[in-house]
Amino acid sequence: MLVLVINSGSSSLKYQVRDTDSQELLTKGLIDRIGDVIPDHTAALEELSTRLRRELDGRSIDAVGHRVVHGGERFSEPVLVNNEIVRSIERLSPLAPLHNPASAMGIRAVHDKWPSIPQVAVFDTAFHRTLPERAWRYALPDSLYRRHGIRRYGFHGTSYGFVAPAAARFLGIEPERFRAVIAHLGNGASVAAIQDGKSIDTSMGFTPLEGLVMGTRSGDVDPSILVFLARQGYDADTLDNMLNRESGLKALAGESDMRSIEEAADAGDERSRLALAVAAYRLAKYIGAYHVAVGGAQAVVFTAGIGENSGKFRELVVDQLGPLGIRLDPEANLARGKQARLISTPDSAIPALVVPTDEEEAIAEATAAVVAGSRKPAASF
Ligand code: AMP
Repeated sequence: MLVLVINSGSSSLKYQVRDTDSQELLTKGLIDRIGDVIPDHTAALEELSTRLRRELDGRSIDAVGHRVVHGGERFSEPVLVNNEIVRSIERLSPLAPLHNPASAMGIRAVHDKWPSIPQVAVFDTAFHRTLPERAWRYALPDSLYRRHGIRRYGFHGTSYGFVAPAAARFLGIEPERFRAVIAHLGNGASVAAIQDGKSIDTSMGFTPLEGLVMGTRSGDVDPSILVFLARQGYDADTLDNMLNRESGLKALAGESDMRSIEEAADAGDERSRLALAVAAYRLAKYIGAYHVAVGGAQAVVFTAGIGENSGKFRELVVDQLGPLGIRLDPEANLARGKQARLISTPDSAIPALVVPTDEEEAIAEATAAVVAGSRKPAASF
């Protein structure tokens, strides 16, 4: 099956075409400046169609899989899209104002262009629908949950759903019995506690802002800071921008890109060293907490841009896990490669691993599975 995977943003559309039988990546690209050079998502689809005709040598797409950030409390699985599902995605827009409207526009644009191609929505939040209430509840008045849906949702679910079974198989453990702490460390970063192969806790919350120190997001802060700043006259947009785009590594080190921060730290820059220390310490604390949450993890797993590529950051984190008996093998840690691999010593109490993630492949696989399992011939609008 040829699956077109689409990640729609408000001003860009990222795409990949994958053959889910051969697992081959046939083409990928980005259409950006939507709303500027390209007027809207419909025009972006025209451009995409032109490119695909050229890049796929006349082969045609069988299905389209969309990354959708927020599935709210409704979606715990990928679903075949129809009009009612798109409306549901739109209704969840207050929870993901930048992402969900763009996904809905992308889905409608595909439907207008290729009405008979089945479309599947794959949600970032879905994998975390197994969180028990003690983990998803905030200790806030119940009316906030009932009126506004304020609870922990968690994100990066497509990545965790891909990496957890891959790590279990690597260790020869049945995925349904696997207990692990998985750290997805990219520009956005989170940790998930996996028990019996399912997510039982995760560091991102109502939005992707909670938890770890990220490229430009603060992660955990005392909520009173916001109340204090509001009283000083900071408005909601200013606070939102500060917490999401001007904080995290960027605030501490002066820039958000891990590679540059590591280079600066190696060259003796104190701010960069502090940024790495704050981020690594926060993650080590979460790993300790989630080791307890899952009843003793069978592995600690690193994935995504930083998790897969930064031996230095992994070392800063794992060196703090001595009390759990986890020991890094410095040589294995610095080895490179695109395969799952062990980075701990043989006498480590539990293994530490690097397992590459591939969210697009996961979306393509999920899309093919939903379409193959569905008796409906096509998306009905
Ligand atoms: P992602 O969002 O998963 O693409 O991850 C992006 C982050 O990974 C950025 O902070 C990059 O600097 C970081 N990254 C990618 N490659 C490396 C590397 N070789 N060493 C350190 N950080 C890296």
